[in-house]
Amino acid sequence: MENKKLKIGIDIDDVVLDFVPSFINYYNLRFDSKIILGEVNTSKIWEIFGLDKSGFGSILEDFHETDFSKKMPFITNVKEGLEKLKEFDLQIVTSRHNKNKEVILEWFRKEIPNFNIPLLFSDDFYGGTSTKAQICKKLEINILIEDNPVYALDCAENGIKVLLMDKPWNRTCEHENILRVKDWKEILEKIGGLK
Ligand SMILES: [Mg+2]
Repeated sequence: MENKKLKIGIDIDDVVLDFVPSFINYYNLRFDSKIILGEVNTSKIWEIFGLDKSGFGSILEDFHETDFSKKMPFITNVKEGLEKLKEFDLQIVTSRHNKNKEVILEWFRKEIPNFNIPLLFSDDFYGGTSTKAQICKKLEINILIEDNPVYALDCAENGIKVLLMDKPWNRTCEHENILRVKDWKEILEKIGGLK
């Protein structure tokens, strides 16, 4: 890889934006429930809310119409982290629905100075045709920063190095191509060691 810039794929939810905590806040307020982050111990997040995937998907659509989604907080140190990674070839890859793209772009452009990282929306959650691993392979991504254990493992098995953001829902996810990281500071350290 000496002559070519490392290509780094970056997930959005729970890597750049604080999705699960924001969704829990919205859900608890709307349904008067008391779900806490530590309970979310599966990537099948809908199970935590006693929903099936499509029921969850429909509440998720409502959520994306609110400021809980449109003004979702950034993960600690992510803005500085993205700035420091500018020497690499960056690509944001999310399984979010394509129709959320403009809202996210607007939020990123407002909050991150000179934001110019390309965004790819796979629609994977909604039954899109390509998996994240297929997309990452096609894009020739060398390192993926991800929190979802299913995507992480699929990419790892396809030879992509994964920096897995440590979350309650991915604690049992392990593979020789997966490095667990606790925050953006550690992401930068690991990438420094991989380049
Ligand atoms: Mg995610």
